[in-house]
Amino acid sequence: MAGTEKVMIVRALEFIDAIGSNLAEVEKPLKAIREALEDGEALAYLGATDEDQELIELAHDLITNRLKRGLVTLGQVSKRNETLVKVREYIRNPVAWPGGYPVVLYMADGECLCSKCAKENYRLISQATRDNLRDGWQAAGTAIHWEGEPLVCAHCSTEIESAYGIPGDE
Ligand SMILES: [Zn+2]
Repeated sequence: MAGTEKVMIVRALEFIDAIGSNLAEVEKPLKAIREALEDGEALAYLGATDEDQELIELAHDLITNRLKRGLVTLGQVSKRNETLVKVREYIRNPVAWPGGYPVVLYMADGECLCSKCAKENYRLISQATRDNLRDGWQAAGTAIHWEGEPLVCAHCSTEIESAYGIPGDE
């Protein structure tokens, strides 16, 4: 992606957030944000000028895409982005800090994935997580594997040992 394009998307996302923060609804429905983007008066109220037309169109496209993917609120969008931030942290370091406890990545279908497979399949994970795909690659989140049996990576069958092992098993 070109640098300027990226900057535009970041600005469009900031603009979307600004509209969201002006909405009375706590959940920030994407449809209401799209309506605001189609409403000249609402845009003027937000300080948008004719020069922002390209930005407004881009923001409108981004919202439309999200609605198509089945997202309803801005909160869901940020939650999915947060999940992907956690996936990237996991890829960089599958060990919790501080403490050095083993971390696992849980997928939406309840399976887990080792960090090597998460790294190798990040594109699939990113797409499935953003687009709410039920293809086995949608990430749910990361968690420390405190105790119990080792968890098995659904992709390569690597075992992820728990921090404290199996209770009662010396
Ligand atoms: Zn694996």
